[in-house]
Amino acid sequence: MIQTVAFIGLGAMGYRMAAHLPKHFDTVYVWNRSFEKAEQHATEYGTQAIDLHQAVQADIIFSCLPTSQDVKQLIDSLNIKAGAIWIDCTSGVPAAAKELAMSLKQKDIEFLDAPVSGQTIGAENATLTIMVGGDAAVFDRALPAMQTFGKLIKHVGDSGAGFAVKAVNNMLLAVNLWSVAEGFTTLKAHGVNLNQALECINASSGKSGVTETALPARILNRSFPLTFALPLLAKDTGIALDLVNEAKLPAPLLALTQSLIQAANLTAEPDSDFSAAVKMYEAWTKIILE
Ligand code: NDP
Repeated sequence: MIQTVAFIGLGAMGYRMAAHLPKHFDTVYVWNRSFEKAEQHATEYGTQAIDLHQAVQADIIFSCLPTSQDVKQLIDSLNIKAGAIWIDCTSGVPAAAKELAMSLKQKDIEFLDAPVSGQTIGAENATLTIMVGGDAAVFDRALPAMQTFGKLIKHVGDSGAGFAVKAVNNMLLAVNLWSVAEGFTTLKAHGVNLNQALECINASSGKSGVTETALPARILNRSFPLTFALPLLAKDTGIALDLVNEAKLPAPLLALTQSLIQAANLTAEPDSDFSAAVKMYEAWTKIILE
């Protein structure tokens, strides 16, 4: 029986994900490094802003931090309740998930890697996709808690499998983003109306999440709203490329994309959205995608 649930890390994603928990659980603890965000969450959604050491006495503990290193540092400093399930929604590193799952198991604590996809709007509308790695029986026990903010929730394999799926997904997003920038810049160089081209492509085989959402809602309207930071995409493509290398596979397209996203991240303005990666290509070509 899940009685208390905690959420650690109330960033762009976590703040919105944790907002759904009080609709399903009586006791919901929240904690954030900048604690005023936790207090604001409590006021807004009826959660309880609480000391971190108390928060980890919950039956289910969610975390959503930038990196696996942040999660590991936190976990290493805590005395977590025996019998608890820690569900890490960070887009993390598969090897870190395996290590954490193994070390926590010795203290009778279960660990699931459960990264999410669907961006802040999906977190707000509780329509996230959740890809989960870990013990299948633990997945079954944790499912009701994940259903509060997830729509498609899949157990994809042992510890680390969820993080691996997420990293490859975001690499595919990056490949799409860069190729869309090249393709639409080419069209503009040939005098084609980009909005009409976009309508055609979105009704054709070249469409993708990038052409359907990022291009119209972030790039062509020049808004680049910061909801998924470019350094986080650069981190994810790095994780994916590490997986390629660990498997000793050739993946020239993915390696090139990782370099491009890395370079775009290094040259981007601070606080850039992932979609702003196209600005590096615009600087090379002197053609603006608008
Ligand atoms: P944000 O940068 O908005 O939030 C990060 C959160 O982590 C903040 O609450 C921050 O606290 C906290 N934090 C950062 N470092 C530490 C630390 N060392 N110890 C404790 N707390 C820390 O990130 P997002 O919410 O955008 O992303 C979170 C995760 O979700 C990432 O792994 C990302 O890749 C993934 N993701 C993001 C999506 C998006 O659209 N944004 C979509 C899907 C996945 P503080 O407020 O004090 O800074």
